Amino acid sequence: MLQQTQVARVLERFPAFIASFPSVHALASAPLSKVLAAWSGLGYYRRARNLHAAARHIVEHFNGRVPPDPESLQELPGVGRYTAGAISSIVFHRPVPIVDGNVARVLMRLDGKPFPHASPQALRWAWTQAESLLAAAAAARLDPAPLNEGLMELGAIICTPRTPACNACPLSDRCTAFRKSLQNKIPAPRPSPTLPRRFCEAVIVRDSRGRLLVEQRPHSGMWAGLWQAPTWERSDRAARANEVEAWIGAPVTRKARFRHATSHRDMRFTVWEASEVPSSGPPTRKLLSPSRIRSLALSSPQERILLQPAR
Ligand code: SF4
Repeated sequence: MLQQTQVARVLERFPAFIASFPSVHALASAPLSKVLAAWSGLGYYRRARNLHAAARHIVEHFNGRVPPDPESLQELPGVGRYTAGAISSIVFHRPVPIVDGNVARVLMRLDGKPFPHASPQALRWAWTQAESLLAAAAAARLDPAPLNEGLMELGAIICTPRTPACNACPLSDRCTAFRKSLQNKIPAPRPSPTLPRRFCEAVIVRDSRGRLLVEQRPHSGMWAGLWQAPTWERSDRAARANEVEAWIGAPVTRKARFRHATSHRDMRFTVWEASEVPSSGPPTRKLLSPSRIRSLALSSPQERILLQPAR
């Protein structure tokens, strides 16, 4: 949950999620729709799908117990080298490295290696470097968990990207970047990529009983299987009112505009309100009460559109 979601948001959802799925078996036997609904509001739903599939894999192949070694852990959907290293070293105390952006930055500064931020070259070098550190710790019979956690914390709290607190750093006397005043040059900056733009025309359709029209997204691609207000996505430009009216089949009024940036797309939402319920539309659409919609899995922009329509 904490990968790319703020701690405060996770703290709101974690207890209820664990209460609903208190064991690997409970999670594995739950329907995916229930897991996605419990994940609602945390975003990046692929993580919930992977967690569910991983629980099933653990039940089928590992007798319901999370495996301790990084190779078996990497068989689980959504578990790459970083997560496998974190579980293996912190939970099972195996001498396996973890490298994230923070750790790579600390290691590069300590050694004075000015690789570009998050470049494949930087990560390759940092993984090799971290492996040697863990091997040295294992040879000295040191627990790998505090070493890995210490490196991550140092990068998150002290050796920060812009203004590292070198005077408070326990490693300053062996840090090349500090000695040569290169902290701001390591890692080297990378030009930020231009994200492809998507224009999303979302239409709020409300009937006389206050129910809202919703549709389910396809089961693959972005926000797979989540629910939304009828939404027309295009890549060329925002639609005009008459185009939205022709698409939805009812007169519309524009209510709001907002941007939603994901790691891969710059999404421009326009929220419209229809003055009547269209007489026809795809069979995947249905009218549901707001309380029913609250129990569905929604992406965060759609939560904003459907559940906070006044904003
Ligand atoms: S001395 Fe400064 S640059 Fe070097 S590791 Fe510590 S915080 Fe980072």
